[in-house]
Amino acid sequence: MNSRIETKCIHEGYKPKQGEPRQLPVYQSTTFKYDTSDYMGKLFDLEAEGYFYTRLQNPTNDAVAAKICAMEGGVAAMLTSSGQAANFYAIFNICEAGDHFIASSSIYGGTYNLFGVSMAKMGIECTFVDQTLSEEELAKYFKPNTKAVFAETITNPTVTILDIEKFARLAHSHGVPLIIDNTFATPVNCRPFEWGADIVTHSTTKYMDGQGVSVGGCIVDSGNFDWMANAEKFPGLTTPDESYHGITYAEKFGKGAYITKATAQLMRDFGSIQSPQNAFYLNLGLETLPVRVERHCSNALKVAQFLKNNDKIAWVHYADLEGDEYNSLAKKYMPNGTCGVLAFAVKGDRATANKFMDSLKFISIVTHVADAKSCLLHPASHTHRQLTDEQLREAGVAPDLIRLSVGIENADDIIEDIRQALSLI
Ligand SMILES: *Cc1c(COP(=O)(O)O)cnc(C)c1O
Repeated sequence: MNSRIETKCIHEGYKPKQGEPRQLPVYQSTTFKYDTSDYMGKLFDLEAEGYFYTRLQNPTNDAVAAKICAMEGGVAAMLTSSGQAANFYAIFNICEAGDHFIASSSIYGGTYNLFGVSMAKMGIECTFVDQTLSEEELAKYFKPNTKAVFAETITNPTVTILDIEKFARLAHSHGVPLIIDNTFATPVNCRPFEWGADIVTHSTTKYMDGQGVSVGGCIVDSGNFDWMANAEKFPGLTTPDESYHGITYAEKFGKGAYITKATAQLMRDFGSIQSPQNAFYLNLGLETLPVRVERHCSNALKVAQFLKNNDKIAWVHYADLEGDEYNSLAKKYMPNGTCGVLAFAVKGDRATANKFMDSLKFISIVTHVADAKSCLLHPASHTHRQLTDEQLREAGVAPDLIRLSVGIENADDIIEDIRQALSLI
């Protein structure tokens, strides 16, 4: 039965049999027991299925990954310890020293730093591009060693909307996969595979967890990218892996090749596994995700409308607002709403903005975003403070931008809190 997203969030992943626990058990075990040495050998050869060590795989994690996989409409998925680890693995699984990839410059500050600084130290070059450029202009950034294109469905913190189909065409016409960070939209509001993306990543720390309790990430593969058809670009998938008994992933695992390689090589060597306890919390979050996302969106729209009509506000960006620059892209890709995050600026200087933020009562100043509690932050002084003004501008982050993550409290109370803080400036 191909159920809808609300049902998948409850019933996909863990499927208990007769007499088994109704709720997903936490397999709090580092290792797993086998009766024969021969069977254990087959596990290491990837000849038999089974768990052997929680640094690579754990049944609790796999059940939750399978749920997210079903929500996105993919064929295979894995959980990682954080969203950062998910984005690092997603690229590093197909890029090595000497390779190049293209990323939108309007991405989360942590990802920008990972791609532009840390991956450069590994010899992997990233070119950041303005995602609003035309296909012809964007095509100029491809090189013979380009291996992937990366962007976010809804950019953090500027909350602009990616034209996913444009990026998919661009990547595919150059024989490389499109990797989409779908953290803000969540598969409830957008499923990038339906628009041509090949791989999706998540910081599950955000709406998926939803309560701000556990850091985590996820990678989902659509199974649609044909590695063999572009074999010369992706030797890691299409030639024998000597560190794994000469297995050629794309031959042996077909549509499961990408995630199998990420598990067998990257988890083995880098070990960024999510703890099973965190996967358990994540699963609880996923069960209520569609209900929460709906409320986040309806609250954010009300708050955006309030801000738009307030004369102390310089500007507000929220793609679900009629008249917003990104409203038509939002309607196309996310007809049920985008997310609970919006961006705005108060009139006046930085001191005025700080006075406003400090005067809020329950809306708190935190680094976090996208959970039940309304919160805000000023990227130029907080998350993005390592970026120069030029990099900030390149990432489209105005120095006066305040990122407001609208929670699931009562919308009138959220507006009331903002109103009283604005009255003090
Ligand atoms: C937070 C975030 C990340 C990083 O995720 P962590 O779980 O904090 O490591 C990546 N991408 C986006 C869009 C994010 O919002």
